[in-house]
Amino acid sequence: MKTIIEPFRIKAVEPIRMTTRDERRVLLKDAQYNLFALKSDDVLIDLLTDSGTGAMSAAQWAAVMQGDESYAGSPSFYRFEAAVKNLMPFRHVIPTHQGRAAEAILFSILGGAGKNIPSNTHFDTTRGNIEASGAHGHDLVIAEGKDPASDHPFKGNMDLDRLDAYLQEHGDSVPCVMLTITNNAGGGQPVSLENIRGTAALAKKYGKPFFIDGCRFAENAWFIKTREAGQGDRSIPEIVRDCFADADGMTMSAKKDAFGNIGGWLALNDDDLADEARTHLIRTEGFPTYGGLSGRDLDALAQGLSEIVDEDYLRYRIRTNAYIIERLDALGVPVVKPAGGHAVFVDARAWLSHIPPTAYPGQALAVALYELGGIRSCEIGTVMFGRQPDGSEVPAAMDLVRLAIPRRTYTQSHADYMIEVFEELAAIKDTLTGFTITKEPKQLRHFTCAFSPLGA
Ligand SMILES: *Cc1c(COP(=O)(O)O)cnc(C)c1O
Repeated sequence: MKTIIEPFRIKAVEPIRMTTRDERRVLLKDAQYNLFALKSDDVLIDLLTDSGTGAMSAAQWAAVMQGDESYAGSPSFYRFEAAVKNLMPFRHVIPTHQGRAAEAILFSILGGAGKNIPSNTHFDTTRGNIEASGAHGHDLVIAEGKDPASDHPFKGNMDLDRLDAYLQEHGDSVPCVMLTITNNAGGGQPVSLENIRGTAALAKKYGKPFFIDGCRFAENAWFIKTREAGQGDRSIPEIVRDCFADADGMTMSAKKDAFGNIGGWLALNDDDLADEARTHLIRTEGFPTYGGLSGRDLDALAQGLSEIVDEDYLRYRIRTNAYIIERLDALGVPVVKPAGGHAVFVDARAWLSHIPPTAYPGQALAVALYELGGIRSCEIGTVMFGRQPDGSEVPAAMDLVRLAIPRRTYTQSHADYMIEVFEELAAIKDTLTGFTITKEPKQLRHFTCAFSPLGA
């Protein structure tokens, strides 16, 4: 059979409240054209993020009822810990309420003024926590990773030559080496097993601990299985274990590849580091057998981890993304290729070339997708990165719009609808206008700033 079907039936449904284009025009104006200000009830298809927005399975909801809310030593924790160790055999598993809490703990210990921390690409919360400690983060992804048109199969790979030179140059100021799989900030592009091993070997050569930001480890393992020589016959859990075998620890957002609506963890091998992390955890998150989570959350994650490595799920997950990208490509919409794991990235600067970066082509596209089709996406471009610390404005490297696909939440007809919205948009795209920002906070402006359409 050619068609890859959703490998699940639907047992509980959430109605979508339909809106008209005229209603959405008013809603946009009321939201001052910032899609974060919309009520989610006013969105038809919400592709703002894949974080914590997935559907839990019947088995996960059943596990929720088994949750034990004991403050210390809950059996829910031990089920969670066993599920993590089954895939990532680290000595210490420390639950946290989200991935960024694990990062905050790790870098409060390893970071500090004058330190330098390399990665393929640091995710924004990772960079935020590194910088908050006084350290600097550096991105050493391969050159192909920054070229939207390159079809390299592992565009998330670390540039090993640059990492070698970096470790030589920065010496003692480097407390650890990080690697993000998949490379979220670089388009959800995967990292090969060979590159993970190469990164680990360099870290070892220079005596540095090696940490993986493993948020989308299962999607990454699927890409290894399907794109890397010699991996096709191996099981996903086997590949996952290999990915983490040479690492000294990991940070994780369980809102991604653990099918959770909330959760995360920090895992470590070093006993002293783990002691320090747990002390910090007790101060900021909670006792080490619950972190910032309830027992029922831990049980949902334990079950989710057994489901996320299912090949039928991963085949459907990655195929959905590839399908949308193929169809958009056929329509002439410039998309980042090849398909990554969790999102579709549209090159708004190229598609809306009549709108200069300083008039935010990504925002113009995101607003048009909502007005025309009720689709909520996320600008990743000059709105997000253009404001400099001195208040000046510099165009970002790219103006992308991200359509992040929540796990097990939307169906094939939702994907076809999305593609149709792009098709209609293609006919009127040259009439779209740019935006100006009328009000903005000093930092992280994209969440709360107000826009006004140019020429309106
Ligand atoms: C989401 C994410 C994080 C942060 O996790 P939260 O649970 O949102 O705090 C860190 N790294 C990557 C790669 C992510 O995708």
